[in-house]
Amino acid sequence: MQTAEVVIIGGGIVGSSIAYHLTSAGCKDVLVIERESAQGKGSTGKSMGGVRAQFSTPINIQMSLYSIPFYASFDERVGHPAGYRPQGYLFCATNKKHLAYLLTNFEKQAAMGVKDVRLVSAEEIRSWFPQLRSDDIVGGSFCPTDGFVDPYSAMIGFMSWAGDHGAKLWKNATVTAIHCDSRGVTSVDASKGTVVTRIVVNATGPWAAELAHMVGIDLPVKPLRRMLVPTEPFDQFPHGAPMIIDMSNGFHFRPEGLGFLLAWNDPEETSGYKTDFDPGFVEKILTRAADRVPVFENLAVNPKRAWAGLYEMTPDHHPILGPVPEVPGFYLANGFSGHGVMHAPATGKILSDLILSGKTGLVDAGLLDLARFTEGRTIHETAVL
Ligand SMILES: Cc1cc2nc3c(=O)[nH]c(=O)nc-3n(C[C@H](O)[C@H](O)[C@H](O)COP(=O)(O)OP(=O)(O)OC[C@H]3O[C@@H](n4cnc5c(N)ncnc54)[C@H](O)[C@@H]3O)c2cc1C
Repeated sequence: MQTAEVVIIGGGIVGSSIAYHLTSAGCKDVLVIERESAQGKGSTGKSMGGVRAQFSTPINIQMSLYSIPFYASFDERVGHPAGYRPQGYLFCATNKKHLAYLLTNFEKQAAMGVKDVRLVSAEEIRSWFPQLRSDDIVGGSFCPTDGFVDPYSAMIGFMSWAGDHGAKLWKNATVTAIHCDSRGVTSVDASKGTVVTRIVVNATGPWAAELAHMVGIDLPVKPLRRMLVPTEPFDQFPHGAPMIIDMSNGFHFRPEGLGFLLAWNDPEETSGYKTDFDPGFVEKILTRAADRVPVFENLAVNPKRAWAGLYEMTPDHHPILGPVPEVPGFYLANGFSGHGVMHAPATGKILSDLILSGKTGLVDAGLLDLARFTEGRTIHETAVL
């Protein structure tokens, strides 16, 4: 019978980063179990790849303070490109409330050590991007070390490094049951066989609640569809642009290839495993795009190239990380609420620390435990795109 010191269920970017961090800390007997025939078919392959430190809560800022420098040095550390492009995130405020919000966040970020973040004036934004309609822009905030990565490449880099250092990856293997005795987890049943183990990590992205049910745990993680629309090649807006966020309605975009990638959080979306792209979304997003960037009226879009994926939402928009005391040996790395790519490096480090030594110096992990939802300790992140 197969055995493993640690079984990680889910071979997306989070499971891969945990495998990388465990093996680099010397724990080599790691098995990653992925039900698909290839990695990246979950949320990771659908992601926009944005990375930022511009959050509103200290713990999210801390996760970014580990993760962004990690991505900046990924190629040397991991021997594989993550495609980090520090082109920044530019939040554009359109009223005084937005400005006050950005100021509060900026003070928090700067106090915590985000070095280059700064508030910018409306004039500066206008001078950088005269293509933006700026009559209602009153200022903004910009951090040049925010930017984008290639999520698929980073995931493959993490898993390849882990594989070269002892970890194994099972593909085409669906986990169907997790068994426990009075001391906790004992084994995992997968379609490829049973694995005897004392430690299991749930890294199943939007499917995390289903997996947690296998050990009788109610996990407040819900799938929520997000759609992205890539444009055809377009040269009337600079390709060195950052992720630009229109705070009046949440529309945001960034350069991608010769065109742009457009995103907007449709408030009418409801939770569920919907991964079909709704063609009606194209008009909704193009209306918002042309409203903020008038030259975007000339954008060409092929709806067949657009796609949908799933965010994994928690009630307070923070992940749920760490052990579950009721089920010894069962660990959670779930509920990233749309930030799982940018926080994958920190998550890998935190989980590896917690599994190997029961504590981590990266964050106060107790703040992100599952019990916070029943003990009234939720911490709300409002900077969710
Ligand atoms: C449109 C869109 C845009 C996004 N933009 C960003 C962004 O700009 N920045 C950012 O940081 N994040 C972004 N995200 C969120 C990010 O993609 C996710 O948070 C991240 O990919 C989660 O990674 P994961 O490894 O936890 O999940 P996944 O990549 O979903 O991996 C989970 C894996 O578990 C496997 N699995 C599930 N159940 C089982 C089972 N029973 N047995 C075996 N395997 C199983 C699945 O097949 C899957 O491969 C975006 C997401 C979407 C959809």
